[in-house]
Amino acid sequence: MITKEDLLLLIDNEKEAILQRGNEFFQCAELGFREVKTVKKITDLLDAWGVPYEKDVAVTGVIATIGKGNGYHIAFAADMDALPKKDGTGNIHSCGHSIQTTMALSVLKALIDSGMMEQTDCKVSFFFTPAEEFIDFEYRDDLIVRGKLEFRSGKQNMIALGCFDGVDCVLSAHANGDQGTKFDVGSTLAGFMAKKAVFVGRAAHSGAAPHLGRNTLHGATLAMNAISFLKDQFDPTKGLRLNPVLTEGGGSVNVIPDKTVLETYVRANDNETLFEACARVDACIEHCAKALELQCMITNAAGYLPLKQSKKVNQLVKENMLKFSGPEEIVENPVSGASGDVGDLSYLIPTVQFGFSGIKGRFHDDSFEVSDYENCYITSVKVMLGTIYDLISEENNRVFPKDYEQKKLKYLNIIRIKN
Ligand SMILES: [Zn+2]
Ligand SMILES: [Zn+2]
Repeated sequence: MITKEDLLLLIDNEKEAILQRGNEFFQCAELGFREVKTVKKITDLLDAWGVPYEKDVAVTGVIATIGKGNGYHIAFAADMDALPKKDGTGNIHSCGHSIQTTMALSVLKALIDSGMMEQTDCKVSFFFTPAEEFIDFEYRDDLIVRGKLEFRSGKQNMIALGCFDGVDCVLSAHANGDQGTKFDVGSTLAGFMAKKAVFVGRAAHSGAAPHLGRNTLHGATLAMNAISFLKDQFDPTKGLRLNPVLTEGGGSVNVIPDKTVLETYVRANDNETLFEACARVDACIEHCAKALELQCMITNAAGYLPLKQSKKVNQLVKENMLKFSGPEEIVENPVSGASGDVGDLSYLIPTVQFGFSGIKGRFHDDSFEVSDYENCYITSVKVMLGTIYDLISEENNRVFPKDYEQKKLKYLNIIRIKN
């Protein structure tokens, strides 16, 4: 098999083509589930390289697998979507997802050019995942109503469709906003779920016959109290945040309200706390409604799960980073308040997402710009490629999912809408 050094050399040889591709994808900024031109560029390249793929997965997702064996299965998850410009003149890749798309294609090309996939029973699947940004709900909810999607994010739909079944480990990378360093490794991302409870009762004249009504505002008030008492029962270090608001309730003062809507985000730093809190908030709402003879419908809009990274794979990532940067240029285990659907994958399969710097301007802002092309498009690709090489060439480096099927059922149960 090719040496790691020779494999990484293939990236240097392709440098010009890679940088050009990076610029093209950066200019091609499309919102989630609308990445049509981006997908065309990706599939044109895959066609040219003779790589088989599946497209239109979860509307605009693409999956290309190289390697024919049934051995260790590595997934590279790359986002494709952009954000709307603040000035209203179109979209911009202000989260740097175009860099991930470019990176995945660079890694894929080097692996096929190296011929190493023919000398192993391992497989590498490239997941070009749509719609990571949690935005544009009207468009996405319409796709959901029309049965094209089940969830608002790309990876969540791909998980539900079974695309990640059989994958042993997920690798990803994301641009970071750090200045003066090159990489970060072991970062966290927070998790959240959005919950909406509709209390349905019976309207009646509030003066003449209130006893004939069933007051939904009373039910919602009771549930608000139960939820605030519930917070007391969670360890304060788990980061549980519950801040319910009533977004609809009552109307006329002479009518007993027959519809009240309570909404809250459930936020936590780890899955166990997030799942437990979701179930217990549901119990508060359901039991309070029942106590007052009200109906209630709970809808969960799936947010993202917290990111928990594989320590073992991150050790490999870090060793590869150290080939191109000093230890002082690597930020270890930063805590991030941001969220991403890679967190959902990390619940099911050992996952890493390292960060690379080289951005000037602000994230999610029109000022976003790639400033260090070498780090974004070349060095970070070598870190990724080196890590894949380590996983393929040395069995002791490998990690595997535990209780995948069981966890997936539990996961889908949590994020699916329930009545
Ligand atoms: Zn973003
Ligand atoms: Zn992002």
